Amino acid sequence: MKRVVVTGGTRGIGLAVCRAFSQAGYAVTAFYSRGEEDAEKARKLAPEVAFIKADVSDETAVERAFAALSRVDVLVNNAGISLNRQVQDTTSEEWDRVFSVNAKGTFLCCRAAAKKMISEQSGAIVNISSVWGQTGGSCESAYSASKGAVIAFTKALAKELAPSHITVNCVAPGVIDTQMNDCYTAEEKAALSEEIPAGRFGSAEEVARAVLFLAENEYVTGQILGVNGGFFI
Ligand code: NDP
Repeated sequence: MKRVVVTGGTRGIGLAVCRAFSQAGYAVTAFYSRGEEDAEKARKLAPEVAFIKADVSDETAVERAFAALSRVDVLVNNAGISLNRQVQDTTSEEWDRVFSVNAKGTFLCCRAAAKKMISEQSGAIVNISSVWGQTGGSCESAYSASKGAVIAFTKALAKELAPSHITVNCVAPGVIDTQMNDCYTAEEKAALSEEIPAGRFGSAEEVARAVLFLAENEYVTGQILGVNGGFFI
């Protein structure tokens, strides 16, 4: 049975990714950092998934979590945090925290998984960026920059790992209906939906299907797949 590691698997897109892979026959291990209540709910919804507390920005925790796994066939770097802040109000601590989860966390997990994948000479990595990493989001400059870093990292790593038969791709979701967007009021959500050609937010399951596709095609690598209802083409 193939094994997938999904970071940030206890809710939203990550939980949908866990369920999609488990339905496709994978053994699933998911990381989270602090939400015990979410983890409990997720364990009930997906009892076949192993939910492990491992903060992706913590090098020791990441190394320990991967050391416990004998093999990793697929890694999905989904854990991420957002920051809605104008640049003049953004502290250097906030900037560092966003980068330490979104960019460094992706690097740490890729490094740990790549060691195992290179020794097997096979594997697939799917990183979750964002439409803001492609186009830049106003009042989300730190978040956008960290997601842009994920895109550049994906492309570089795809070239580096292709000779080892490992693919590295990226999904760039548009606006997806998860807890991350709870910061918007109903009116703001309606206004945002009007800006999306598809006329609505995407679902976590729609993103999960794109992740599964990228993980299973051996000749697609270094690609950034938008799942955004036409928001950015
Ligand atoms: P949620 O906030 O709903 O879920 C985030 C998940 O990541 C949770 O399981 C959370 O668990 C986990 N997580 C957060 N920080 C860490 C950490 N340091 N280490 C391990 N796990 C962590 O987010 P979404 O499902 O909405 O988003 C998932 C990904 O998709 C993110 O990378 C996000 O940037 C990206 N994205 C989302 C969009 C959207 O509109 N929702 C649009 C574009 C991109 P815990 O809190 O316990 O750590």
